[in-house]
Amino acid sequence: MQEALFCQALGLTSPWAVERVALDVERSRIDLYVVWQARSAPCPACGAIDQKLHDHRQRSWRHLDFFQFEAHVHCQLPRVACSGCGAITQLKVPWAREGSRFTLLFEALGLTLAREMPVAACARILRCADNALWRQIDAHVQLARAQESYAQVVIIGIDETSCAKGQHYITLVHDLEQARLIYATPGKDASTVKRFVGDFKTHKGKPEAIEVVCMDMSKAFIAGTAEHLPAAAVAFDGFHVVQLANRAVDAVRREEARGEHWLKKTRWCWLKDKGRWTPKERDKMDWLPHTRLKTARAWRLKEALRDIYKVRTDAIACTLSLKRWLHWAQRSRLAPFKELARTIRQHWSGIVKAFDAAGLHTGYVEAVNSLLQAAKAKARGYGTTDHFIAMAFLIAGKLKHLPLNPLQKARPLA
Ligand SMILES: [Zn+2]
Repeated sequence: MQEALFCQALGLTSPWAVERVALDVERSRIDLYVVWQARSAPCPACGAIDQKLHDHRQRSWRHLDFFQFEAHVHCQLPRVACSGCGAITQLKVPWAREGSRFTLLFEALGLTLAREMPVAACARILRCADNALWRQIDAHVQLARAQESYAQVVIIGIDETSCAKGQHYITLVHDLEQARLIYATPGKDASTVKRFVGDFKTHKGKPEAIEVVCMDMSKAFIAGTAEHLPAAAVAFDGFHVVQLANRAVDAVRREEARGEHWLKKTRWCWLKDKGRWTPKERDKMDWLPHTRLKTARAWRLKEALRDIYKVRTDAIACTLSLKRWLHWAQRSRLAPFKELARTIRQHWSGIVKAFDAAGLHTGYVEAVNSLLQAAKAKARGYGTTDHFIAMAFLIAGKLKHLPLNPLQKARPLA
């Protein structure tokens, strides 16, 4: 009776069956013994039906907890000797991925938790080793990603993000229309674009169909795109342009702070979004930006630039506003802003392109970046770039073929 119940819970169909259930109350553990109740089996290698069983191998899998009991599944797993292809092959089990010591349901729960918290914390809750959990994440992300199609992708964003302290970077490529991560690779040089194009083709992507590549003004991405995606227009997104303006403000402030002591400790006020000032910062910034300080002038320039991108009326209006802004910046007598104006002029067509390319979700790229950096900080960094990449796909890949959360609300009975 209880064997039949567990058979259903594990989703087994004949000739798989639960033969025995052993509950050990003292050790808080339940063991389920599964058997293949037939004398023959189809060959897992070539599919020939009704082949002889050769021998059996003892295998065990950790399963989802059963109430407070740690559950394990065991099986004397048959190997099939095939008269057709001659191979001796172990039967595949329906409850686990090949090579895994955990059931699929256990792995699905691990993946669900890993989206929400650092892997080390998931491993503590699930009472398994971090490494085991990482292997599950890597394997499922790889399997799920292999099934993704990028055939419809026409607008992409390329961005870099830091992977660890020091010089480790990874390059991320996003499908900007569907707001999903489609590629990630170590490094941030021009060869990253080449690797992306190779991978893109294996997912039914058509490189010649890519219309717009959105990016920062890094020479490497510009060169890589020109070489490997020659048909695509380049657009430099507003987020990165405003970021450069922020750096210019900081350069002006640093220079000026040498003479003006009370400018010290105001760095973040100038760089932060107005809306995010603390009450104390707001008091200070009530009057500072309106002074004749160079930093204040720089800040007003930066804010005006940010507004052009924030308001985003239409491409023509934005282009006009930006031209006016360039005049202002050039007459500002602030070297970092004159420099920024030069940079913008040099990249003019790509900057204007960003105004009219429909469907440019640059806010999305920014959001994913901060999501990944937050996950990294919570995990106190990732041991390897591989882990960071697997996590990036788990969080931002919108992978359609990952196993579902087994603890989702039960379907109502029909
Ligand atoms: Zn065979």
